[in-house]
Amino acid sequence: MYGGIEAGGTKFVCAVSNEGVIIEKISIPTTTPEETVKHVLEFFDQYEVDALGIGSFGPIGINKNAENYGYVLATPKKGWTNYNFLGTIKKHYAVPIAWTTDVNAAAYGELVKGAAKGKKSCIYLTVGTGIGAGVVIEDNIFSGIAHPEMGHIWVKRHSKDVYEGTCPYHKDCLEGLAAGPSIKARTGIKGQNLPKDHPVWEIQAFYIAQALINYTLTLAPEKIILGGGVMNQEHLLQKIRQQFVKQMNGYMETPAINEYIVRWGLPNESGIIGSLLLAEKEYKKKNNNQ
Ligand code: ADP
Ligand code: ZN
Repeated sequence: MYGGIEAGGTKFVCAVSNEGVIIEKISIPTTTPEETVKHVLEFFDQYEVDALGIGSFGPIGINKNAENYGYVLATPKKGWTNYNFLGTIKKHYAVPIAWTTDVNAAAYGELVKGAAKGKKSCIYLTVGTGIGAGVVIEDNIFSGIAHPEMGHIWVKRHSKDVYEGTCPYHKDCLEGLAAGPSIKARTGIKGQNLPKDHPVWEIQAFYIAQALINYTLTLAPEKIILGGGVMNQEHLLQKIRQQFVKQMNGYMETPAINEYIVRWGLPNESGIIGSLLLAEKEYKKKNNNQ
């Protein structure tokens, strides 16, 4: 039996699976680390898991040789900065634990069981309160000195956009210009209530398409999968595809645009399913090495 934790800034989803089937799943509101993790432990104490997979909101320490490995790093989420998340879970369960970001877990879930099933590589991008992405290449999550921070890349400004941007670090990076809060900041209206024909959607699409072009030029993945609250706007997906084709201007050949840039294949579950799959992968890795 495997356990998965999708640790989001708003809610935690915990689940256990047996032979690829989710047996039980709960959702816990994200409050203080102590309170939230207490509920997580109460849930997993009911089961005998063979391994755990954690996909956490970030940034997180993923360098095994660093002192902050397993910690949540500088986050605006109150009380979580420098919280030893992995260490706390490890203290309670002496099983192999996979530790990565929420978007990496989602990318992995989508590659194995979702929209990128049968492919060897994909990028999963979430456009929600923030923007973040995970990259899976040849069944492995890509990381180097840290996990990638693909939401904070630079984009060319739209000629009709004067909004300064919401990112506390960079103001007008991609996240600052195109995440959910930027829609509210420009229009006074939340994305979910903004009419489909509002000009701000073209601006959003212009920025997100640029990001997807940059990712394509850099990594050439087999698929790009879009998730997150803002991407519930079906018309936005169409606008992004159109802008992608227009701005790429025929430079790089990609699969048919409707197959290359797609919505998630595991709606709302990419992260938790990915976390469970990573638990399984970690378990097999540990047992094959013995
Ligand atoms: P989180 O990123 O916190 O996990 P979401 O992915 O739901 O959560 O993102 C929340 C953001 O997405 C908010 O800024 C919200 O206004 C926006 N949002 C949620 N639903 C929609 C929608 N249907 N259309 C456009 N924007 C949406
Ligand atoms: Zn930024």
